[in-house]
Amino acid sequence: ELGGKLRSSLHRLQGGRGDDAITTETLDAVLRDIGEALAESDVRAELVTDLKDNIRRKVGDAVSENTASSNANLARQVQRAVVDELTSMLTPSGEGSAKPYVMRRGRPNVILFVGLQGAGKTTSIAKFAHHYLRRGWKTAMVCADTFRAGAFDQLKQNATKLRVPFYGSYTEADPVSIAEEGVDRFVQDGYEVIIVDTSGRHRQEEGLFEEMQEISAAVNPSNTIFVMDATQGQAVYDQARAFHSAVNVGSVIVTKLDGHARGGGAISAVAATGSPIVFLGSGERFEDLEAFNAQSFVSKLLGFGDMRGFMEEIKSLNSGKDREEMMKNMAKGQFTLRDLYKQFQSVSKMGPLDRVMGMMPGMPEHLIPKGGDDERSKQLRKFLVIMDSMSDKELDGKIDLQKKNDPATEKRIRRIAAGSGCHPMEVRALLQQHKQMESMVSKMGKSGMMGGGNAKQR
Ligand code: GDP
Ligand code: MG
Repeated sequence: ELGGKLRSSLHRLQGGRGDDAITTETLDAVLRDIGEALAESDVRAELVTDLKDNIRRKVGDAVSENTASSNANLARQVQRAVVDELTSMLTPSGEGSAKPYVMRRGRPNVILFVGLQGAGKTTSIAKFAHHYLRRGWKTAMVCADTFRAGAFDQLKQNATKLRVPFYGSYTEADPVSIAEEGVDRFVQDGYEVIIVDTSGRHRQEEGLFEEMQEISAAVNPSNTIFVMDATQGQAVYDQARAFHSAVNVGSVIVTKLDGHARGGGAISAVAATGSPIVFLGSGERFEDLEAFNAQSFVSKLLGFGDMRGFMEEIKSLNSGKDREEMMKNMAKGQFTLRDLYKQFQSVSKMGPLDRVMGMMPGMPEHLIPKGGDDERSKQLRKFLVIMDSMSDKELDGKIDLQKKNDPATEKRIRRIAAGSGCHPMEVRALLQQHKQMESMVSKMGKSGMMGGGNAKQR
């Protein structure tokens, strides 16, 4: 797993082993680990080489001049460089790179979706439509996939659920004329977001690119979105290049990030198309679409949780004094059980629970309760009840509940379990989870990744 590997190689830098100064050899070893981890996560070899060169350029001098006393500072510098380099790889810049497309109100924005069959175009179109509908855009869909049986029905079903108008045909076999007619009609009717679905097919099949070019010429899209399946790995780079040279891709959507995919392919897609990633797909529901943010993505890739996204969500709730206090503490790297309690309380107000919990720092995937939202809120309520049985001192971390083989601690845990009607194992599970989050917040606070400028500097 990429996050784990990167974290452990970055950990090497933290000089767990006493006062040896970080040397050029240490840096080489760390860069080699990072390179291997990225390669395993489907990042292309050239990109990995670039990344390593850039990091070396940034911190090489500091490392060769390093003494043991500045180790901690240097470790942070290297971490920062890794994060920054990964972030900039996900942010296209320089010659030939596409500016993020900005949707224009009151005018037709024709958005053409392309990508291989099964990449998730039709699903993403529904999510994309849902996203804009909720923000008040007049939205419509056109189905120019006449290749796959059932394609029109799939789009129609989604459109009907979302209550957006759609255009397509069961009998007309020419996707170009359908695309043209559909778009013309919705332009005339004053639609603002007009989404065109195309057929994907497999790479071997002839005629796909010609067809796409004809559709593209016929509808003259404002933006062409390449949809890529994150589970496709190394193959993505060549696919993305081929699509880009055929139809001038302007944006990328990465799908299926809810599975085991590690997202290295996303870096390749950006490199191959020079286009920004706009959304991430993380499930099959209309809500499972997140606006892309490079820093959040990298922070997740590194296993830090989506701290920034999480903070944004917390901020967007009515921010009481409590929350501000908590955010201040988190930026300092502090995270008590009481903070966890407040987080769980606010999480229950934030909507799709699995998504929000997935953003929590240090929340390992296996601890996110499985099942529907009902199942999850039950679990969450149970955690809250357990914490209700704790004393103020316990909640504020003035008493350590993690002491091993300590009769007094055992007694406290039994008391909390009895008070909340749970098994002591459940109390321990909660404490364990808190501990993981605490250590993650502490690391992030120290690395300054959480912003707020409160990071401790030596
Ligand atoms: P298309 O051929 O490119 O239009 O692909 P579809 O939209 O039909 O999607 C192919 C399959 O992938 C379907 O079974 C979708 O439900 C599934 N799918 C699409 N996006 C996601 C996603 O973000 N997560 C998961 N888990 N499945 C997805
Ligand atoms: Mg489709």
